[in-house]
Amino acid sequence: MLIVTGAYHWWPKTVGFRNDFCLSCGAERRSVRIRTFDAGHIFWVPVLPVGFWKHWYCAACGNDPHVSPRTRPFFKWVGLLILIGLSIGFWMDPVTPDSVAVSWAFRIGAPVCAILLLLHLLKTPKEPSLKSRLAAIASASDTLCPFCSTPMMSGDRWSCPSCGVVRY
Ligand SMILES: [Zn+2]
Ligand SMILES: [Zn+2]
Repeated sequence: MLIVTGAYHWWPKTVGFRNDFCLSCGAERRSVRIRTFDAGHIFWVPVLPVGFWKHWYCAACGNDPHVSPRTRPFFKWVGLLILIGLSIGFWMDPVTPDSVAVSWAFRIGAPVCAILLLLHLLKTPKEPSLKSRLAAIASASDTLCPFCSTPMMSGDRWSCPSCGVVRY
């Protein structure tokens, strides 16, 4: 059964900004924090939980800056373990006389796939972690609000007295 679910994001308000690293863009970006009134929906009928939520968005591409668009290597390693498990399974299973070709196709196919995946995993260059990339990015240093050009006020965090955005 197909159930349509999702979330509504109502009444967006910009409440913050920071210098960030966007994994979708693969580059240093400004990201903005938007507060919305969110409601989950099933078949477009709003249901609980509802409330104000804050989300970060990349100012250039609009995605969550810290969500990688690519398959995480972790899942590929899990896939490799599954393939190795399958290979062992196919070799432990005696070849059934009426499907010799199929049995051997699995016996050879599974380890070959495992080896190809392993080679791919070893070849993929390790990307510097998001943490180290963020550490290399200078914090935002705006003294004028980027949204309304009002001079920002210092405090625990710099904030705009006019529109209320916070510099992170
Ligand atoms: Zn981006
Ligand atoms: Zn402002």
